[in-house]
Parts: sequence; structure tokens; C-alpha cells
Amino acid sequence: MNIVSVLERELGKEAVVGPGDERLEDYGRDESPLPEFYPPACAVLCESTEQVAAVLRICLEQNTPVTPRGAGSGMVGGALPVRGGVVLSTEKMQRIKEIDPADLVAVVEPGVITGKFQEAVEAAGVFYPPDPASLEYCSIGGNASTNAGGPRAFKYGVTRDYVLGLEVALMGGEVLRCGRRTAKGVTSYDLVAGFVGTEGTFGVITEMCVKLVPKPAAAATILGVFTDLAKAGLAIEALLRSGVRPSVLEIADKFSIDAVRPKARYRFPANAGAIVLCEVDGEADMMEMMMERIGLAFDELGAIDVLAASEPAERSKVWEARRLISGALKEAYRIKVNEDICVPRGKIVEMIARCDRIAAETGIPIAVFGHAGDGNLHTNLLSNEDPMDPAVREKLWHAAGQIFTHAVALGGTLSGEHGIGLTKKPYVTLEQSPQLIEWQHRWKAMWDPSGLLNPGKRLPERQKRCSE
Ligand SMILES: Cc1cc2nc3c(=O)[nH]c(=O)nc-3n(C[C@H](O)[C@H](O)[C@H](O)COP(=O)(O)OP(=O)(O)OC[C@H]3O[C@@H](n4cnc5c(N)ncnc54)[C@H](O)[C@@H]3O)c2cc1C
Repeated sequence: MNIVSVLERELGKEAVVGPGDERLEDYGRDESPLPEFYPPACAVLCESTEQVAAVLRICLEQNTPVTPRGAGSGMVGGALPVRGGVVLSTEKMQRIKEIDPADLVAVVEPGVITGKFQEAVEAAGVFYPPDPASLEYCSIGGNASTNAGGPRAFKYGVTRDYVLGLEVALMGGEVLRCGRRTAKGVTSYDLVAGFVGTEGTFGVITEMCVKLVPKPAAAATILGVFTDLAKAGLAIEALLRSGVRPSVLEIADKFSIDAVRPKARYRFPANAGAIVLCEVDGEADMMEMMMERIGLAFDELGAIDVLAASEPAERSKVWEARRLISGALKEAYRIKVNEDICVPRGKIVEMIARCDRIAAETGIPIAVFGHAGDGNLHTNLLSNEDPMDPAVREKLWHAAGQIFTHAVALGGTLSGEHGIGLTKKPYVTLEQSPQLIEWQHRWKAMWDPSGLLNPGKRLPERQKRCSE
């Protein structure tokens, strides 16, 4: 009996999206810039931990690869079934089981959409800070599996900082509960930290206990417009040295500004060469003072314009230009390879200058924007050539390789938030030693000795034994 029939028999036909069902195509793609479609044998839309465990048991028994999937918004191909087999989707596991404002914790199933979870939490008077830009459609289980970050990571940290406890189904069907629901706890080895960010290669998250924080009473947003990046870089340095702790600190280069000019309601000055967007949150009576202080600092450092707002609707207008960048670039170019290197904060301006040089040398336009507070830059390689042409893709990935090489040389890392998945796997050796890669293979083998769980992701093939 083939795998699809076994799954249909054990989980019911309604749980399985099989061959001939037009929905199946969706499970062979994600938001990565890869043009290929990776057809799975089927997708299983699990509704409970028991079903997830059953799929993992059957896949092991049938020696079939299985790829976990949340909402499919990943940008590195992590949820693509590159070796075929089964896609295990958590999209139907959407229950928010508990929000406890007194204990400051919530318990959720992995398929809950992050933005919906934030709304529910805020309605209960508390706050869940991780805010990937994809929050309207990504899942919280996907966020934990990629250790997603977002603009607020500068003040509040990334998803890992909020995951207290996990229920995980392992290859073969065993279900493990690890972590805690208390603020502190050191009784066991930190297996939770081990599962977060492993992109579905160690196990499938079936339930999460996450930390909440008190909801800030108010926030203010300040946009500084500068003629060039060097001035924007100085403004960021000065701001951080002044002791201000923004919740958000974003930067964008001239290329990004020019892409949003036609779309944004804000009329950028003709000589705008860089923007710094800063957000602070806290007590309502502090906001006026913070806006003035940051606005003045931007002025003193040569800003050609400053916008500031504390009312939600006005703040949203100040955010607009930054928010529109990614979509504007996507609309203007047929190919957009959005990387997410992270460099030490002091190297941001140098890294952007190096991207400009790579763009000049390769002829590939590169727009850079991102989370300056964390040194996390989105370097967008753009092209209007044919996405299916291997030569075009080779050229783009070669330029991406140069960006990674420079980021590592500056003390940085390949990925600040999107993960490694499939697309960045060939570049891991730029950053990690054969010894480190070997130890990760051993770790992976402990959780998944069969190698059937999300195969072909994250780790480059074994190079040599660490003792050699
Ligand atoms: C427009 C846009 C903006 C984005 N902005 C950000 C951003 O600001 N910050 C950021 O970090 N990312 C961002 N992303 C990337 C993406 O949204 C995140 O990586 C997100 O965390 C993926 O969640 P998902 O539910 O879509 O996961 P998927 O894409 O379905 O899967 C991602 C990985 O997690 C694994 N996985 C999913 N669910 C589980 C589970 N329950 N158990 C085990 N493994 C699982 C998959 O196997 C895969 O390896 C953006 C993407 C887009 C398209």
C-alpha cells in the first residue's frame, strides 16, 4: 500500500490532500525566490498532536521523507519537500488554549497566525512582542521553528526569548514535553532552546507555552531623513549613545527610498539618501518628550526632514514609507532575492557601502533596508531577467555569496532571522567550521536517526570527522 493510502486509512481522507487535488501544488512552494515546484506525494492537514505523531510514525515505518509546514511564508525554502514524500501541515492547529495575564503566559497550537495571536493577547491587556513583517499570515509555530524576529526585536528580543515550553512530536511518533510555564526554571537541559530555530529538522512543534509582557501604554514614531548613509549611521550611533532605548530602529538606503517615492503619501525631499525610523514605547506622558529629544538629535546630526507622531493613525503614516519598501521592490522587479545578513551594529554603514560596490561590480541592483538596531540588514538583489534562466540565477546567487562573504568578514552572520533552509545551505561553510557542522550533524542524528525529517535542509553535507 502506498503512503497516501496508508495516511488516508489511518487519518481519514479529509485530512489528506492527495494527487489530483489542485491544492497540492501550494505545498510544493513557499515565499523563497526559488522558481522550482517541489511536488510532495501528499500533504496532511493535521488537527491534533495525535495526528502529527501518527504521521511521523507512519513516515518512519514507510521510510518516507516528511516536511513540516506552518503557513509557508518562509523565505529560504525550509518548508519545501525537496525529497518528495509528505508535507505535514499545522495550518489547522489554530487553537489559542489559554491566555493568562496574571502569570504572563499563553498556550497555543502551532498553526495560530501570529497577528491574530497578538490581537487576542492585546485584547486581554497584555503584549506578545515578536513581530515579523509577515505576521498577518505566518504561524507562531513557524516563528518558533525559524526563531523569527522583527522590528521590535531591538528592544524586546526574538521569538526564542518568548518560548518557555514546547510539546514536540518526534520522528517515529514519540511526543516530548519540555521547558516550563514559569518565568524562571533551570531543572533540565534547555531542550526548548534546542528546538527553537531548527527549522523543523529535529521535531514538529505541536504546542507552545509563550511568555507575555505588560502592554506598553503608548508609543511614538520618529522618521529622520538624511542625505546619505554616513549621516544616518552617525544618527543611529548618537541615539544609542544617548541612552535612549528604542523599541524599533530601522534604516533604509537611497535605492529603497527611490522605490517607494511614487507610492508613499510622504513627499521625500529630492536629495533624500537614507532614512532612520525610530519607535519608542512606554508611559503616555513620556512620548512628547521622547519625540522632541530624538527629533532634535536627528536635526543636530543633519537630518533634512523629521516626522514624528504618537497617535496610532499618524504613526502608521510615518511608518508607511518603510513598510512599503519590500512590496514596491517586488512589484518593480521579476526577481527579488531578499537576504537577511546580520553584522555588528558598528559595521552597518561599511556593509551597505560594500553592497554598493558589489552592485557596481556585478551590475545587479541591490536595495538595502532593515533592522539597524540589531545590525540585521535585508539586502535585496533585484533583476528583471527571466527567473527560470539558470545563468541569471547563477549570477544572482554568486552576488549573494559575495554579500555573505563580506558579512562574515565584518564579524557578521548569514542570517539574522529568515533561517538557512535550502537557499542558504551552500553558504554555511563560509561561516562555520567543519567541526561545528559535524557536531550539528550528530545532534540532528540524535533526534532523527533516519534522516527523514525535513531532509536536505540547513546543514551542508558532512565534510570530515571533527577528530580528523
Ligand atoms: C513579506 C514577508 C515578510 C517577512 N518578514 C519577516 C520578518 O520580519 N522576520 C522574520 O523572521 N521572518 C520574516 N519572514 C519570513 C517568514 O514569514 C518567517 O520565517 C516565519 O517565521 C515562517 O512562518 P511560517 O508559519 O510561514 O513557516 P513555514 O514557511 O511554513 O516554515 C518555515 C520553517 O519552519 C518549519 N516549521 C513550520 N512549522 C513547524 C512546526 N510546527 N514544527 C516544526 N517545524 C515547523 C518548516 O519546516 C520550515 O523549515 C517574512 C516573509 C515574508 C513573505
